[in-house]
Amino acid sequence: MRYLLILSILATSAFGQSLDERVRRELPSLVETYKKLHAAPELSTQEKNSSALLASRLRELGYEVTEKFGQYAEPGLTSYGVVAVMKNGDGPVVLVRTDMDALPVAEQTGLPYASANAGVMHACGHDIHMTTLLGTAKMLADLKSQWRGTAILIGQPSEEIARGAAAMLRAGLYEKFPRPAYAVALHDWALLPAGKVSYRPGFIMAASDAIDITVRGQGGHGATPEKTKDPVVVAADLVLALQRIVSRETSALDPVVLTVGSIHGGTKRNIIPDEVKLLITLRTYKSEVRERVLAAIERTAKGVAATAGIPADLAPVITIHPGEATPATYNDPALVERLAGAVRREIGASEVVEGDQVMVSEDFGRFSDNRKIPTAMLFLGAGDPAAITSGAAPALHSSKFAPPPEVTLRTGVRTLTAMVLELMRR
Ligand SMILES: [Zn+2]
Ligand SMILES: [Zn+2]
Repeated sequence: MRYLLILSILATSAFGQSLDERVRRELPSLVETYKKLHAAPELSTQEKNSSALLASRLRELGYEVTEKFGQYAEPGLTSYGVVAVMKNGDGPVVLVRTDMDALPVAEQTGLPYASANAGVMHACGHDIHMTTLLGTAKMLADLKSQWRGTAILIGQPSEEIARGAAAMLRAGLYEKFPRPAYAVALHDWALLPAGKVSYRPGFIMAASDAIDITVRGQGGHGATPEKTKDPVVVAADLVLALQRIVSRETSALDPVVLTVGSIHGGTKRNIIPDEVKLLITLRTYKSEVRERVLAAIERTAKGVAATAGIPADLAPVITIHPGEATPATYNDPALVERLAGAVRREIGASEVVEGDQVMVSEDFGRFSDNRKIPTAMLFLGAGDPAAITSGAAPALHSSKFAPPPEVTLRTGVRTLTAMVLELMRR
């Protein structure tokens, strides 16, 4: 009897421990890792130290790690991609992705672990993602008896400039390593309370396009505009005319955002310049809408210039940057429902909510290989609940974004581990 009792206590401590108990035990060290990463953010294409930290920790946990994986289209850039593989018998191959890069934002949180790298900040929470991936890596290494298959954990560079996923795929991620049956990820969300997770089947994030328009005119003296073709006035007209593509040419049921985020021309108040440059971001969901809006941008730019009397040989030059484009992010409906069920069982049904589509963009969708591989990205709450309710919560990319580390990471590791175990359970 006594033996049985001791045996059962031993069994509970060794095998019966809940995932939450395991995560709680790791939490102090995870929070420490998070603060270290948060204090040392690195910009896109420069994730040297973040990737090295990720790689060394994953190696310590028993993963087979490849560093500097990826190939940018531009020569001379190093891709700091990390690929960590753990083989655990026959079974599905599951890819889990974190991104690693930070943003050119001057942090204003006043936190003791605020960025020590002036003008650079983890304002999108990719430090949360890296730490969550490390916590999940530890859980998977400890719980090998509960799953089978091959786990591929990747650290992706350059998400914020939408080039890192393409760089890793270009270098042969799916040829040099086992091709995944599923790809999953989390993204933190500043306007969802920490402790909660949201999910949505189908389209979740918009396609993004980067477009430049150079309006060309014929410069001259600011006092004699009649002897010039003024590109400043044409550009001003164009900024407003472009919005009519959204409001008058697009169905209200098709989301489109067109933002002129930068406009530059001229040097001095009394000189009419020869050109003005507009930098635009376009967000759409449907590819037919995207194609139509891109064509309308060109037609509108040329039309506005022609109306101002600018000759055809000086028509505006429209440049679309394919390297900075991302397709819309699509969650495989069956996969996301299955994962949401597993997350509900782990963190509680009341903590898992259905989310909305958003107009921000991500390059995670590229890992679906044009929807041939079912992928799912769930949103991890990372906001202060009171601040969200009062409307004061800073959004992602804000200089004041400060997720509460303990709750966010604890929920993140439980969620991501539950997602992977669901797909690889013995
Ligand atoms: Zn971001
Ligand atoms: Zn992000």
